[in-house]
Amino acid sequence: MGKVTGFKEFARELPAKVAPQERLTHSREFVGAYSEPQLHQQAARCMNCGIPFCHSGCPLGNIIPEFNDAVYERDWEEAYRILSSTNNFPEFTGRICPAPCESACVLGINSSAVAIEEIEKHIIETAFAKGLVKPGAPLLKSGKTVAVVGSGPAGLAAAAQLARAGHSVTVFERHDRPGGLLRYGIPDFKLDKWVIDRRIQVMEADGIVFRCGIEIGRDVSGEELTSTFDAVVLAGGASIPRNLAIPGRDLPGIHFAMDFLTQQNRRVSELEFADEPIVVAGQEVVVIGGGDTGSDCVGTSNRQGAASVTQFELLAQPPKERTEHMPWPNYPMVLKVTSSHEEGCQRYWGVNTKAFLADENGQLRALLIHDVTWETDVLGRPMRFEAVPDSEREIPCQRVLLAMGFTGPRTTGLLTELGVELDERGNVRATEKAYRTSRPNVFVAGDMRRGQSLVVWAISEGREAARQVDIFLTGKTSLPSKNAVGMFG
Ligand SMILES: Cc1cc2nc3c(=O)[nH]c(=O)nc-3n(C[C@H](O)[C@H](O)[C@H](O)COP(=O)(O)OP(=O)(O)OC[C@H]3O[C@@H](n4cnc5c(N)ncnc54)[C@H](O)[C@@H]3O)c2cc1C
Ligand code: SF4
Repeated sequence: MGKVTGFKEFARELPAKVAPQERLTHSREFVGAYSEPQLHQQAARCMNCGIPFCHSGCPLGNIIPEFNDAVYERDWEEAYRILSSTNNFPEFTGRICPAPCESACVLGINSSAVAIEEIEKHIIETAFAKGLVKPGAPLLKSGKTVAVVGSGPAGLAAAAQLARAGHSVTVFERHDRPGGLLRYGIPDFKLDKWVIDRRIQVMEADGIVFRCGIEIGRDVSGEELTSTFDAVVLAGGASIPRNLAIPGRDLPGIHFAMDFLTQQNRRVSELEFADEPIVVAGQEVVVIGGGDTGSDCVGTSNRQGAASVTQFELLAQPPKERTEHMPWPNYPMVLKVTSSHEEGCQRYWGVNTKAFLADENGQLRALLIHDVTWETDVLGRPMRFEAVPDSEREIPCQRVLLAMGFTGPRTTGLLTELGVELDERGNVRATEKAYRTSRPNVFVAGDMRRGQSLVVWAISEGREAARQVDIFLTGKTSLPSKNAVGMFG
């Protein structure tokens, strides 16, 4: 523990952000960095409490008090060693993780949590700047080959770990560049794409081969893959968007969020795209869906110069503070105001959309909506809703972005060809600890297995799946597991 009285002396601080008016003029990241004394103070706030609940709050089991202490001691080599022992990509999680670790921080019980995520970002950025991030695959190879399908955080984490175990790894990606949703989903203002490129360079130096622009199940058959490689890891994500099949759905101007966001990612990176451009400048935009994807649509619409941005959520407005149903250290479902909301957005909760309305030229002119009230169960979970009488009204708009989540992986193509079993939710079935599908040498990780989730969970799954592949290939493994150290039972 760095400073015994640190948590009493210093308040939680986050680095300054560029003001909304200024950051809306570009698509780059806008969160600044701590000064050296600030970082020192923030690390000093960690109490090194007897039972660090932050460990179990983090899906990777990051060893947080220890890296905080190393930062306090300005021992960057040690801080990076500890952090990289559990997390392959702290530069991603340090930017976009919702930080469930902070919700579980003991200091957060009666004060504000340690700024774990920011400290994590500073460790990895310092490590890169000091040249500490180096390829680490052994020179002596195992002679085994593994194909990873999908280059999102799950596939990348699996590939990195398998290379570390001495296997020859090839990552197949249907898009033209690696990164999955990190690259063609999450906006640049949350995650600059050079951050991904920098990591891919390290992975390539580790001998990992990236074959982009190849869709397995179309360009190369799944059968060919399973017979050519000793093992296959499916990490294809959960890309089927939830639709809103109501009258008027086919009108022009209504888009799935990912069509809009992927196109904007490509535009910002000066890459071409084949589809009709979706540009909302000067238009009244409605985003349907109140989660992360919806928030990213808000930020992107404002950057494109929308006349107004409105966001609807079917569920009731969450409470501002924890309730008795979400006690510490659980991750609380409280009201979240993202940086995109700060930039300008009207938000409404408890709103259901009944129809998309057209003008006389067949163009989208409004949404027909009504308010709803929710009945909850004894644990406060929403059960069913009822329309509020006489609340029906029209909301003028020329664009609608549907951001209501994803129903699961695409089951046509590769999954049908391989014939792997699916679970009742339509995800690829695999046991929790073995990550093995119904095909003997085929494993699965990330959103494709657990459904739409988080980057930190995808990395965690990729790491755990790699460990199981290593055991499958060699009968043993020295790859670490969060389960093996007893933190997650
Ligand atoms: C808009 C948006 C914003 C988000 N924001 C956040 C956030 O702020 N924080 C957070 O923690 N999480 C966020 N998430 C969730 C997070 O991005 C995902 O949980 C995570 O990326 C899942 O990782 P994955 O590797 O399982 O899949 P993905 O990232 O989806 O990657 C799967 C990859 O597999 C490729 N692929 C699929 N099938 C094939 C095939 N047959 N052949 C070759 N390649 C194939 C796909 O092209 C894709 O590149 C967000 C999600 C979205 C959509
Ligand atoms: S990966 Fe996420 S949950 Fe884990 S320590 Fe970092 S910010 Fe916290």
